Amino acid sequence: MLYLVENKKVVMVGIPGVGKTTLLLKMAEIIKDHKKSVSVLSFGTLMFEVAQESGLKDRDELRKLPVSEQQNLQKVAAEKIAMQNEDVIIVDTHAFINSPEGYYPGLPEHVLKIIKPTNFVSVSAKPEEIYNRRMSDTTRHRDKVTLTNIKKELDAQSGIIASCMVITGSPVKLVLNREGKIDEVANKIINAIGL
Ligand code: ATP
Ligand code: MG
Repeated sequence: MLYLVENKKVVMVGIPGVGKTTLLLKMAEIIKDHKKSVSVLSFGTLMFEVAQESGLKDRDELRKLPVSEQQNLQKVAAEKIAMQNEDVIIVDTHAFINSPEGYYPGLPEHVLKIIKPTNFVSVSAKPEEIYNRRMSDTTRHRDKVTLTNIKKELDAQSGIIASCMVITGSPVKLVLNREGKIDEVANKIINAIGL
């Protein structure tokens, strides 16, 4: 029996500073070497591009917008992602966002239904490494960083990604982004998902 090779829509989640962007840029390089077309999309950037049209200036202000506005922006971003038709689409996003009203889902059911991810990758790292990565990145306006909060965020991520997999019926690959091991971790994800 002949099966059509389906496009892969990989949604990568991880708390800030865990190393998602670094990892998926490395993954995109490797996938291009495999002669496949690849599109890397940052969910937050897609939302920010739309929000800028209504005057938002700073990307780190997105999570402080009223939840209803964030929901609309998420819908528009999801629709842009759904329109892509490369062999491999990788989405850089968060399982949840730290909003003033509490944790808010990065991938609510309405967004998952639009994107239809084929795979999830949930990136984690040692809390101490995440702490150091956040502290040394001066390009971002981060919330107050403590090890206790990082541990709470990692726990919240595991719970939320479990519900994403149940809603979509798609598998989740859990990876630990070890210090200095970007190439190894990127290859591990690619082999696991068959990209
Ligand atoms: P955000 O959600 O805020 O965008 P992120 O998960 O995309 O965060 P990155 O920006 O990719 O995180 O990484 C944060 C910092 O950690 C960067 O300075 C990056 O170079 C570094 N870093 C990421 N992964 C590793 C690793 N395996 N070893 C060493 N440094 C790393
Ligand atoms: Mg990033």
